[in-house]
Amino acid sequence: MAINSEEESYDLLLKGGHVIDPANQIDGKMDVAIKDKKIKQVAKEISSEKATKVVNVSDYYVVPGLIDIHTHVYRFQSSNGYIEGMVPDAHLISSGVTTTVDAGTAGWRHFIDFKENFIDTSRTRILVYINIASGGMVLQSTEQDPKELHPKITAGIAESYSDIIVGIKAAHYWVNQPWDSEHPPWASIDKALEAGDLCNKPIMVDFWPRPERPYTELILKKLRSGDIHTHVFGRPFPIVDKSGKVYDYMFEAKERGVIFDLGHGAGSFWFRNAIPAIKGGFVPDSISTDLHMGNINGPVVNMINVMSKCLSIGMPLYEVIMRSTVTPAKEIGRSDLGTLSVGSEA
Ligand SMILES: [Zn+2]
Repeated sequence: MAINSEEESYDLLLKGGHVIDPANQIDGKMDVAIKDKKIKQVAKEISSEKATKVVNVSDYYVVPGLIDIHTHVYRFQSSNGYIEGMVPDAHLISSGVTTTVDAGTAGWRHFIDFKENFIDTSRTRILVYINIASGGMVLQSTEQDPKELHPKITAGIAESYSDIIVGIKAAHYWVNQPWDSEHPPWASIDKALEAGDLCNKPIMVDFWPRPERPYTELILKKLRSGDIHTHVFGRPFPIVDKSGKVYDYMFEAKERGVIFDLGHGAGSFWFRNAIPAIKGGFVPDSISTDLHMGNINGPVVNMINVMSKCLSIGMPLYEVIMRSTVTPAKEIGRSDLGTLSVGSEA
């Protein structure tokens, strides 16, 4: 049988690698053939004769492009040491991340600048959780001012750019100042939910619990199925009791469809929470970094480093890959990503 037909030729053949592709329940030695930048075939034995270029990867794992759903890549000059976005083509692709979601760096006031000057010119695929606060993290003051939380405008932008905007972000609101009539406890969350309802998209929440807005109310009442709490292993979250037992309400929230994302960050991954939680069967749905210029030289470094921490505290490798590919893909409504299925982007 002829093997040189157009149908059966490949541009690149990755030979003999250990393929982990949880979307297709693959975990073993496989060849991967690529043509026109798309996955053409994944099989135990693909003939080298069919490929223009063959790379022996028998000492390596071959996995789908990683998806990091919490980073900051919109770059702006910070005047007070607040976080600054990093450069995805320099800082993400080298650690295997091909898709990232900027988590609320920009609100609607800066979205077009973000799109035209960063997203459209990046080789890394950049998607966006748009901040419910008009000035995002650029004008930090708007994250504190309920008058600057604009559900209708935010939802309108999200609908207009639904190929880029995958959800709404609420963050950093009134962390420790005293409450007053202009700053009700749930303002940021409620407005983000309102926007999410209007454009039918999930919200991602960076939350700071206080007595007037307890964590249990967030995950058991406020968040809807598909909404995401990021930084789940952060210090302020009561996810395990003093003896290290995972609170029942964490599983109850998962049952409701609430998604828990790791969101490592500069200070949001506490081994004292992560180790007993994972041991007790409470595993974050997705692994993400919260990478920005302030934590790129530590403690985050990159996605691989965060994945390695999960591996080292007992998450099996297959699950680590799953929670860095197919699961985040599902969370952002992009099941075409995070997989080596035939026809998907290589
Ligand atoms: Zn963040």
